[in-house]
Parts: sequence; C-alpha cells; structure tokens
Amino acid sequence: MKKISELNPFVYVLAFVLGLSATSITAQTPAPDHPTVTVHGRTYTPRSILERNMGTTDDQTTQFPPHRIIGNLYYVGTRTLSSFLIVTPQGNILIDTTYERNVPTIQKSVEQLGFKFSDIKIVLGSHAHGDHQEGDALVKQLTGAQVMAMSEDVPALKMIKPGGKEHPIDKMLHDRESVMLGGTTLVAHLTPGHTRGCTTWTMKMQDGGKTYDVVINCSLRPPTMLTPAIVDEFNRSFKIVRSLPCDIPLGDHPAQYNMEMKHSRLGNGRPNPFVDGANCRVEADIQEAMFHAIQAEQQKGNNPGDH
Ligand SMILES: [Zn+2]
Repeated sequence: MKKISELNPFVYVLAFVLGLSATSITAQTPAPDHPTVTVHGRTYTPRSILERNMGTTDDQTTQFPPHRIIGNLYYVGTRTLSSFLIVTPQGNILIDTTYERNVPTIQKSVEQLGFKFSDIKIVLGSHAHGDHQEGDALVKQLTGAQVMAMSEDVPALKMIKPGGKEHPIDKMLHDRESVMLGGTTLVAHLTPGHTRGCTTWTMKMQDGGKTYDVVINCSLRPPTMLTPAIVDEFNRSFKIVRSLPCDIPLGDHPAQYNMEMKHSRLGNGRPNPFVDGANCRVEADIQEAMFHAIQAEQQKGNNPGDH
C-alpha cells in the first residue's frame, strides 16, 4: 500500500475530488510496471522504483541506525525515508521531517547521537509530499524551529495538514538562496518536476582537513503522465543536478544512494563510504532514462496510466 502522495496524479485528483485527505488515504492502484529501462546494468520500471524508494509500510516507519555521514552532517531518518541533521554551535538544522508519525523516531535518533531535539532551529524540506514533510508542524511545535520552504512548493505544502494542523511556513526561499547557521551554509537549488518546488540541497562539509561537496538530491522520479510544463521542468532540472559539484551524493530516499550498503562499510579507519563522487549522477541517469521512456510511450499513444 502506497501513500497517495507517492502515486500518480490521476489517483491523486480522484482522491481530491472525493474529498479525501492527501495524507490519510492509501490507494489500491500500484505504479505501472511499464516502461522498462536498463541503466548501469540494472532494470527498472516505475513500480520497481517506487518500491525501491518506499519499501514496506514498516520500512517507512522503522528507525535506521542514526549515524554521522561526514563532518557535522548526520542521518536521523527511517529505513526508507531520509531525514538529515546538520549540527552547528548555534543550533541545528533538520532536512525532512517525513511522516508526522515518524517524528518521535527522528527525535530518538537525534538524542541517540547525543544531541538535543530542542536545538533544532531550522526545518527544511526536499519536497511537498507527505512522506517527506508531513511532520513539519509537529517538529515546529516541539522545538520552535523556523520552517523554510521553496516558494514554488508552498501551495502544495499548505495542503499537507495532519490532524487539521496548518502547515507552518516561516520563510519562503527562492532558487539558489542560502540558509546559514553557525558557520554552515546550505544552498537551495530549485529542481522541479517531481513537485513544483522540489529542492536539491548542497553544502560544503569539512572533514579530516578536507572539504567535500555534499548534494542532497530531491526526487527526480517522473509522474506517469507528463504534461508539457512538467517536461520543461525536468529538462531544466536534469541539467542542474548534473552540473552541481559533488563528492557525497545523498537523496530523499536512502535507496537513491545505497545508504544501507554504505552504512555497513562505515568505521575502523576505512575510507568513508559516503564519499562516492563516481556515483553522483547514477540517480539522475536512472530517472532521466525513465523520463524519456515515459515520454516515448506517451508519444506513441500508449496509455501511460496504471493499467
Ligand atoms: Zn515525492
């Protein structure tokens, strides 16, 4: 069962028409299992990518061992929904609160790393889907943090209202705007397509006397029906993400950067497995191939929907 926010626009619109909440409905229709693309020796369909991203309902809510990625950047999310913590002397930044029901799990992860949840001063997000930003209101309530969001995603964020709570927006961000706290600077890159305000975050991290470029990709997963406006957005976004300097690729779902495998290789003086510049473009390669395959299917007049 997938959350409505991860499903195709037809189902979303249908649910909306029926007056159902975008964050409380699960739909029966899975993503389509066509077209098929093979990228770097692996084969994908829209359904397999969605399953790779989301895992099971349990995966979405089960704590993944919290860990330091590099410098002052930590992972505090679940098995399949990323949440990142940036720790600074002037307080901390949280990127993606995920589902509201995951907030206690994120809090536990922050505390297990030795930090205070109440030190979160800024909440940022990857994109306006419930599995990434439904918890914003609760985290703000618990910490008093400022919620900042890419302006193009604000209308969709305003529709995410768990338990009727208004989605807090304390500051609207614009393409390439910086967010600074305690000596760390994050840059918000507008990379739309998956949502109108999908935000790829970049930052420089110091570690062991070196500086690394970190890229937290926003989902590049195309919807099953591409409109001309969405096509334009993706064409622009693929160019942008391919142009970003990158030593450490991360993403809003851990499978996008092989977190589990990399985490298993952490420690004991071995090179940091998250430093993986060679694989910085893999997710863009997969999603761009899928994007073109969906476009081709649509142009041939095949029904691109869930049939
Ligand atoms: Zn999404």
